[in-house]
This record gives sequence, structure tokens and C-alpha cells, in this order.
Amino acid sequence: MKTKFFALFVSLLCFLFIFTSCADKSSEKSKPPENPAGEDGKITILLDAGHGFGDVGCTSEYLNGLYEYELTWHLTEDLAKKLETKGYTVLLTHNGEIYPSVSDICERADALGIGYMADKMNAENNVFDAYERAVHSSVLDSEVEIDLLLSIHVNANADSNEVTGFEIDYCAENESSEMTKFVFDSICSSLERDFEGRRLKKFADSWNMAFIITKYTTMPSILFETGFASTPSDAELLLDTAWRSKLTDSLADGISKYFELEH
Ligand SMILES: [Zn+2]
Repeated sequence: MKTKFFALFVSLLCFLFIFTSCADKSSEKSKPPENPAGEDGKITILLDAGHGFGDVGCTSEYLNGLYEYELTWHLTEDLAKKLETKGYTVLLTHNGEIYPSVSDICERADALGIGYMADKMNAENNVFDAYERAVHSSVLDSEVEIDLLLSIHVNANADSNEVTGFEIDYCAENESSEMTKFVFDSICSSLERDFEGRRLKKFADSWNMAFIITKYTTMPSILFETGFASTPSDAELLLDTAWRSKLTDSLADGISKYFELEH
């Protein structure tokens, strides 16, 4: 009997040991990085104004002739200024007028030893597509250490003109996803506080569901859909410069709260 009790006691100890070490691991995982600025100690944000250059993105009869690429550029330019005022280094995947050539991206990627799918790099089509942007972003990350990539878009729904709100995505299977989650949560909190009552749909996508720019990148990468061009009330907000400014304030605040370790 005694031996049985001893064996039971040892098993219980083993169970407790395994349980507590697992619990430790999971709490370790949920801790934000101690130094979100990374090894260089400098915070560099890369902004990507979605679309442009042969790809106008979405539009609708409610956007007064504007296209997604024009709205994303206005938002990106505005957010860049606000982040710079807060002291961050801001880079852009393109400047609204020109984008890096595919041959330049490939040359730099080759020199840095960054792998990419050569057949997806298309110099002929005159489109700076999501995959090329992702490789370009990874090149910049290797060159200057990017701490966050935020790609800004406008949504559209083909079946309904009643869907409203924000949508925000990151790839849960990207190599940086554990870090991304914290800045993602910080941006979401900011949006929830500043746009109370507005729908905010959050996606931590699997590899298959994720947007290209959030998965083929080496740094924390988030794609943000600002509103639905296909819904009259959202289109009205997207055209309103005061509302857009409130939105870029909120994004800048969410980003800052994370990098200043105010979480
Ligand atoms: Zn888009």
C-alpha cells in the first residue's frame, strides 16, 4: 500500500510540475515584447497606401468619383505626418507618384539574401501589387529594421450597401505574429475608444485566409480597412476630412500606446 501511495504522490508531483511549467510558458507567451523598438532602439513605421499604379482599388457611386487608392493616399499621408510629429521614423512603400521598380526590389532582395517567388514579381504589368509590396517591405526591414507595417485600405461589399465599419487583419501564422498581436490590440483599443459603437471586425487570419501583405513580410504587419465604399453612410465618412483626421489620430494613438509601452 505504502509503495502505491508513494507512486501516487510522485505522479501528483510530476503532474503539478508539468502543469506549472506549461502555465509559465503560456504566461510568457502573452507578455508583450520588452523592447518593441527592436535591436536598433529606433521605432520605424512603414505605411502602405493600398492600391494605385494601375490598380485603382474599389469605388462606388457614393464616392463622388474617387477611388480607393486616392483615399488611402490621403489617409497615409496624414498618418505619416502625425507619427513623425510624435517622433517616429516613417517610411512609405511608395510616395503616391512612383513606386520602386520590380528589378530594384529583386536586386536588393538578392543582395540581402531574402527569398521570394520570382514568378510573382511581374515587371511587365505596371502594377505595384501586394506581393511586390510585401517583398519590398521585407527588403526595407532588412535594411533599416521596420517595427510595424500598416497597410491602409477601403472596403467594398458586392452584395450589400448596408455593411459598415472597420475591419483589421493580421496573419496569425506569420513569423512575427506573436509580436503583431500586441500592436494590433493597441490599435483596436484606440479605435474602440474613439469610435464607440462603430463596428470593428478583428481577424487573426490563418495562412490561407491572410492578406498577402500580412503574411509574406518579416515584420509585424497589419491591414486596416477603413470603411465600406459600397455603403452610403460609410462613403460619406470616408469623404469627410474631419472624420479621416479623427481616424488617423486614433491610429497614431494606438500605435504610440504600444511603442511607448503604455500597455
Ligand atoms: Zn484594398
